[in-house]
Amino acid sequence: MLAIPPSITDISVEELRSELDLEPRYRLDQIQHAVYSTNSTSFDDILTLPVGTREALAKKFSYEAVAPLRTETSLDGTKKVLLRTGDGSVIETVQMPTERHKATTICLSSQAGCAMGCTFCATGDIGLTRNLTSGEIIDQFLYFRRRSGDEQVPDRAVFMGMGEPLANLAAVEGAVRGLVEPGRVGLGARRVTVSTVGLPSGIRALADWGLSIGLAISLHAAVDEIRQCLVPVARRILLEELMDASTYYQRIAGRRVTYEYTMLEGVNDSRVQAKEVVHLLRGQRCHLNLIPFNSYPGARYRGTAPDRIRDFRDVVGLGGVSVTIRRTRGRDISGACGQLHAGGLTN
Ligand code: SAH
Ligand code: SF4
Repeated sequence: MLAIPPSITDISVEELRSELDLEPRYRLDQIQHAVYSTNSTSFDDILTLPVGTREALAKKFSYEAVAPLRTETSLDGTKKVLLRTGDGSVIETVQMPTERHKATTICLSSQAGCAMGCTFCATGDIGLTRNLTSGEIIDQFLYFRRRSGDEQVPDRAVFMGMGEPLANLAAVEGAVRGLVEPGRVGLGARRVTVSTVGLPSGIRALADWGLSIGLAISLHAAVDEIRQCLVPVARRILLEELMDASTYYQRIAGRRVTYEYTMLEGVNDSRVQAKEVVHLLRGQRCHLNLIPFNSYPGARYRGTAPDRIRDFRDVVGLGGVSVTIRRTRGRDISGACGQLHAGGLTN
């Protein structure tokens, strides 16, 4: 157990209701509204509540589980914030502008660091400090919602920051429920995506939550031998098992799965490998996202050149698999996929 109070966002609507035992029924709505839909940053700001209730809540819960240490803004408008949790762990969260007018996507961390050790990822290099709580995840979103103004409204959340979400399943489930529930963050299932290194039991659990949120699976290679060099867990989880879980998700959630494929020069980017991808994915309800490699100090790979990425895309597309190249954001502030390392400060 953490020696820090839970965040008010750590608890479900039912838990908050029983917390407010003797209070009038409308108190619950007042608190939910203030926490999730206003810019207030402390219980003292909820002027609709009696002072006694504010004080009682402040004794038991923190209002914001994460506090900013440093913010950086990219030339493309991406913002990265270094956040400190109550026990001093440090994580990073990124806000990315989207093509949609004034809308932004928040890239959430689910763990401080990551234990998966993927060989092309800066977060993998630092190892795992600890799992985040549901409240610490939701509060990353609210951090931006409370401070963004009308020009940069956060309306989408993707679990593509630090950590492997499906290695922290219970907290991520709580966070996802908080993000989609109408009375809380209220994004709706279509606006939340979990990205996983590919843990089959977690993928099946996600399907069984019954929320139909978006799922992205980090594929990176269509044959086990190459995947095992990039993603250590692939040594015990073969592609066949991963594809079974993915098909289960497509069927139960009724949604197309996105596969992510980071393009590494001379490793997974040949035309033969593009055809292997087609062989693996053809016939699935899926989309392939090719990610240009984002480098970082100490990186062991080089990224595939843009024209080779386009060539790979064309081979996959002609093979009948839906495919696009991801637009890179925030590279100049080390805020792009795989670059988050919290300055090595995670604990
Ligand atoms: N742990 C989850 C989510 C966080 S990583 C996962 O692995 O899916 C988000 C995405 O960034 C993943 O698809 C990951 O493979 C990719 N990624 C990691 N390092 C990268 C890098 N250096 N350049 C480009 N993409 C990278
Ligand atoms: Fe962890 Fe994802 Fe990075 Fe792999 S790619 S080390 S799973 S954050």
